[in-house]
Amino acid sequence: MTKYTSLPSGAPCFSPSQTDAFSTCPVLWLSVYRTRAVPRRFGPRELGGLLGTAFAAGMATYWGGARSAHQACGRAIATLRQEVARVTPACDLSALPALAALEEGLVQAMSNVFKNWSPPGEVLFIEQTRPAFGYARADMVCRLPGGELIVVDFKCKRTLDAKYAPALLEEYQQSTAAHHYVWMEEAVAFQPVIVRMEPFRVWEEPYYFTPARINAWVAASLSKWTIMQDLLEGRRVPWEASTHTTRFGPCILKDVCLGPQVGSPTEPRVSPDLIVLPSANNP
Ligand code: SF4
Repeated sequence: MTKYTSLPSGAPCFSPSQTDAFSTCPVLWLSVYRTRAVPRRFGPRELGGLLGTAFAAGMATYWGGARSAHQACGRAIATLRQEVARVTPACDLSALPALAALEEGLVQAMSNVFKNWSPPGEVLFIEQTRPAFGYARADMVCRLPGGELIVVDFKCKRTLDAKYAPALLEEYQQSTAAHHYVWMEEAVAFQPVIVRMEPFRVWEEPYYFTPARINAWVAASLSKWTIMQDLLEGRRVPWEASTHTTRFGPCILKDVCLGPQVGSPTEPRVSPDLIVLPSANNP
């Protein structure tokens, strides 16, 4: 089994999603991701989150032991409905497709996966939360025929132009999550599995890491996590990103940050376009 660098005792560690949010902009991370705020008006990014959560729940049911497409689809639909119900009183979902269409697409995509897709090895773990690693949770960990471990990560997309798929696959292969999960699970490779719902298609390819690469990433990430912890404990003032556009478009805090009443540099910034839901649970 591969052994990578361990963190010093008591060192901070944050999940890939938290680390990515911090890397985009520390102010955005502290104001939106740490407070678990969501936009009042849901768009493509939030739709991706809802579908991803439901799809992962279905996959976990199937590969975690049930091996029943019926049960797995039922769990995915129940999860989707639960997530929609959680945000519906406070958020505007009118820009999203109808729930019935999403459910139908989800069931078709999952049924296709169960018929046509196989894990790259023996399935060892499904969605196992690792508290010592920032409460990160890989979708699936498999043992390859040679005995080494590989992490599988599902990405469910409602639509995706095929010409963008190779670049997206490469982005996932080299992502923060890929490094984090391979390090955390002492694996050798990361395999993103992009599932396009309409029309159904899967893109996947394993990506192998060397120990030197993972260890360099751990050292670099520890610098980030130390600063993140300092920010949480008020020992630093967060810096602002140099551009105010994220990969999903203009930052949701742009009017606040660039407005005349920006407020205290150490306090989370509050926007009328954001709302904090009480039961959101993203470590
Ligand atoms: S508007 Fe700019 S500085 Fe403010 S949170 Fe967004 S990216 Fe960061």
